[in-house]
Amino acid sequence: MSVRVRFAPSPTGHLHIGGARTALYNYLYAKAQGGTFVFRVEDTDLERSKKEYEVSQLEDLRWLGIDYDEGPEKPGEYGPYRQSERTHIYEEYAKKLVDDGLAYYDFCTDEELEAMKERAMKEGRPPHYEGKWRNSEYFEEAANKLAAGEKGAIRFKAPKKSYVVNDEVRGRVVFPENMVGDFVIIRSNGLPVYNFCCVIDDMLMKITYVIRGEEHLNNSVRQLMIYEALGGTPPAFAHVSLLINKDRQKLSKRDGVTSVTKYKEESYLPEALINYLCLLGWSHPDEKEIFAIDDIGLAFDAKRFAKSAAIYDLEKLKWVNGMHLRALPNDELKSKIEEFIAKDHFYFSQSDTWKDSAIELLKNQIEFFSDFQPRLDSDLLNGEVNRSEKLEDVLSWDTTKKIINFLKDKLAGIDDSFISKEKFQEIFKSLKTELELKGKPLFMGTRVCLTGQDHGPELGDLVPLIPLKIIKERINHLS
Ligand code: GLU
Repeated sequence: MSVRVRFAPSPTGHLHIGGARTALYNYLYAKAQGGTFVFRVEDTDLERSKKEYEVSQLEDLRWLGIDYDEGPEKPGEYGPYRQSERTHIYEEYAKKLVDDGLAYYDFCTDEELEAMKERAMKEGRPPHYEGKWRNSEYFEEAANKLAAGEKGAIRFKAPKKSYVVNDEVRGRVVFPENMVGDFVIIRSNGLPVYNFCCVIDDMLMKITYVIRGEEHLNNSVRQLMIYEALGGTPPAFAHVSLLINKDRQKLSKRDGVTSVTKYKEESYLPEALINYLCLLGWSHPDEKEIFAIDDIGLAFDAKRFAKSAAIYDLEKLKWVNGMHLRALPNDELKSKIEEFIAKDHFYFSQSDTWKDSAIELLKNQIEFFSDFQPRLDSDLLNGEVNRSEKLEDVLSWDTTKKIINFLKDKLAGIDDSFISKEKFQEIFKSLKTELELKGKPLFMGTRVCLTGQDHGPELGDLVPLIPLKIIKERINHLS
């Protein structure tokens, strides 16, 4: 039997990162197995579902590089792929269950249901349905009500037995008898509920493997009941671990950006976001942390799903973003960076060699394209010096005072815009010999005097990129 998996989001908001991860795992599994990846829209919640969210979720998946084989825009054999277009199918199956005596029409009012719940709670019983309509002696009355045009819900008769799921991630999970009571499968307004449509669709769409978030584990018991009632074979299940924040709480909007759209707006690289999401609940067999999703291929093995909850760490995601940014071809990196530099910036009036060298020098210190300009401004173009405690210490050394005077003298005689690499080496050599300096006093002293900072890239690479005017300003600030 060929492998068929699905991603079935509800279009009630933008694509959440948890959803994107589920989509990714299904996509990778289908690819590794040579199977089919179905995209299904679970839009039975008519009030909250919106077409614009379906469109935006699809756009976000495309942005992330996740493609599917069958779905609303790629009809296959098992469509339609929007649940709102399949209500007649759910109705037909629900009626079949009623005819087989496995479900019944329920005419209880909300107040009656509420009172039932309260009674059960008071008596310490689980709040299961115990209305009269589950008894066959009322079936005729129910039929008459229906014939008279009254609207009733269809409720499934939950069998009194335990169920087991052999979950790929969670192992053998036993759902004890009496865990759930009779549950509604079609509401009195005619709309089907998730646990019912999901089974009908997975069955008719011949889904062989359901990979979804752990929050759906408890839904499996209701779903297994429906499979059994309809004589269907349940798919295999993998309930992947929850995403949690650093305080080990379920990830929420308060933890920062949780929708893919937001990351797109903040200029994250899609290849970085998807790489990071992949690592939240799955590990690469070669223990790689940085990879391209489409290079995973056969290495995507469901046995490598993690059992424990995955901590969502924005700092790590930023690091992954930096790694992917640096891996971009030079031309692409340059043009992307330039998109984030102000049009009238000093950068644009410089030679290509200067621009390329500045990017080469600073790329290791940035995680986003937008980090480049601030970095450039502070490291290369700022004449003012932030006199930190450490800087003051270096400046108090006699050797540093000598360096300042020496450099002032040497630089006064140069009127180029920049100090060339060769010139810098020459100055440095003479500093060493004429002032008889070496080690920390030489290296740290020179760095502080020329850059105004106590750390940074190789001086020989950095200094030739700083406009001489700025270097002179810095030295003046320090003396
Ligand atoms: N519509 C459900 C959701 O968005 C799908 C759950 C499932 O995969 O069964 O969470």
